[in-house]
Amino acid sequence: MMGKSHLVISTGVTLSAMQWAGCHLTVPVVAVAALSSLLPDIDEPNSLLVRSAVPAFLLRTLQLTLIGAAIFLYFADVAPYPWNIVLALLIGSVAFLPGRRLRKLVMLLIAVGLVAFGSAYDPWNAIAASILVIATLVPHRGLTHTLYGVAGWTALLYIAGKGMESGSLLWIAGGLSYALHLLADSLTQRGITPLPPLPFKLRLKLMSTGTKKGGAVEGVCVTLTLLLVVLTFVVGR
Ligand SMILES: [Zn+2]
Repeated sequence: MMGKSHLVISTGVTLSAMQWAGCHLTVPVVAVAALSSLLPDIDEPNSLLVRSAVPAFLLRTLQLTLIGAAIFLYFADVAPYPWNIVLALLIGSVAFLPGRRLRKLVMLLIAVGLVAFGSAYDPWNAIAASILVIATLVPHRGLTHTLYGVAGWTALLYIAGKGMESGSLLWIAGGLSYALHLLADSLTQRGITPLPPLPFKLRLKLMSTGTKKGGAVEGVCVTLTLLLVVLTFVVGR
């Protein structure tokens, strides 16, 4: 299923349900719901979340900077011959890593930076750092599409939200939105394996990605969600 559909369906249904339950929806709650709707697909090489974490232009800028630094280190008297060549080659070679590798490297560096210098944004720095580390380490379509993923993410939000004003709503919003993503994926041809190593698979095959019927079912789900959101937040007030 498309990232944008997940964003609309998971976030829309979560916020509507919470509104009906009488929860006070704050900006952090909405943000966590939106983030959690995309989080399971973070192990996809081109996931919406990963792409927006390190956009392509940033990657290009970084590559040019690295090449520039390599040339500078070669000519400047920073290190004696032949170490200037070694240093220049080392820095320069990072610039030519494949896009995915470079992106992962940048995300890990940002995570380290967040933990080291982001204590002013507690607990968001820890949450953001965990997401970036998960994104770089989790294998392709691995643990994120399981019930362990739901439990882990919900527990992380629960711990991070302790002592925050709207903290108790954070893990509800995040857990629900994340779980709805998995539910939506279980309707697809690909399905999910919720409890590995148990081979049990959830796959309703209602929509096969790329087919006309699959696209139609996805469109219907998005439309129904938008109707629910309008009903809840515009008509229901
Ligand atoms: Zn997914």
